[in-house]
Amino acid sequence: MYEIMTAGPTQVSERVRMARSLECTNPDIDPAFYDFYKETCGLFEKALHTQAHQALVLCGEGILGLEAACASLTEPGDRVLIIDNGVFGKGFADFVKIYGGEPVAFVSDYHKPVDPAELERFLQQDDNFKYATVVHCDTPSGVLNDVEALSKILDAHGIMTVADSVAGLFGCKLDLSNSCIDILCGGSQKALSAPPGLTMVWVSGRAWKSMENRNTPIASFYCNLLNFRDYYENQWFPYTMPISDIYGLREALDAYFEMKDEIYDRHDRIAAATRAAVTKAGLKLYVTEGWAQTVTAVCVPDGITDHDILEAMKADHNIMISGCFDVLAGKVVRIGHMGENAREEKVTATLAALQASLEKLGVTIECDMAQEFCAAL
Ligand SMILES: *Cc1c(COP(=O)(O)O)cnc(C)c1O
Repeated sequence: MYEIMTAGPTQVSERVRMARSLECTNPDIDPAFYDFYKETCGLFEKALHTQAHQALVLCGEGILGLEAACASLTEPGDRVLIIDNGVFGKGFADFVKIYGGEPVAFVSDYHKPVDPAELERFLQQDDNFKYATVVHCDTPSGVLNDVEALSKILDAHGIMTVADSVAGLFGCKLDLSNSCIDILCGGSQKALSAPPGLTMVWVSGRAWKSMENRNTPIASFYCNLLNFRDYYENQWFPYTMPISDIYGLREALDAYFEMKDEIYDRHDRIAAATRAAVTKAGLKLYVTEGWAQTVTAVCVPDGITDHDILEAMKADHNIMISGCFDVLAGKVVRIGHMGENAREEKVTATLAALQASLEKLGVTIECDMAQEFCAAL
């Protein structure tokens, strides 16, 4: 088994794995499961600092939340603003198109967060959008957008916000009560460190109303959030819930609440120390300002390939880090220091292995990265 230091899925603690082996009831008809599910959603709401009971756990990997948001809100012909400063940001346009919407891109530099003032200037020219999509931590680069501030600007123009925080939540702070976000998407397998398979979504009252007031039906069953909304009153789920996955998610949420503030502090310190070590080594960070606390993208040095680095890390050190895809394919390798991966000893070992791998490939490293990391913590 490799030590997975990837940008998600992340390592899964023993207590979460054990929780997934608990005895199962029939989740369709056992009232105790409806209570358990509702409490679990409640913990997610609490983590997001909202009193509103509008969270759901859907059966499907993180992408399901993104598609469900677009499927449920988009009617044919709707104009949707795609805030694009990263690969996942850009990708929302595909979901909008599938459901007949008209995506309009607001493109900004992939090396830094979206500037709220620039978005405001763009909206002065054109703000005829039903909703906008934006990514909190865009994982391929590790750029962190201020989704709270951006959602407020959009709201002032009467535009709803769909925010993807699959790779942000539980590692990068997010306060829904200080935002105008309408649909927030999270996933089980990133900083929460449960296995892949579940999407968490939170839906605002305004977004529910917009879905209810559609002229055309939602063109999906699995992605139709309205099918879920009254699950508790009706004691009915649109499909059988993956009970063992949800037991695991619950355990991960309980673990989060046992450590809450310490978690953000640890992510902050580890991310900053990783960047300090990488730059001191003479390597380049892809993002130049506004880094997420969950992942660091390091530019691949000239003369070697991402594949060379990843293979050396695996073969000589048994550690897996991530390459990249789409427009960043081959340009960066990524260390995922989120959730269970965000531990000093794990990142220290990863940086030592990265250094040895790069040196073996002929790259000059200008410091002892593991030592720099520890010194900067
Ligand atoms: C991981 C992730 C998702 C889920 O997508 P997969 O690539 O299928 O894991 C969605 N959005 C972001 C920003 C992610 O990091």
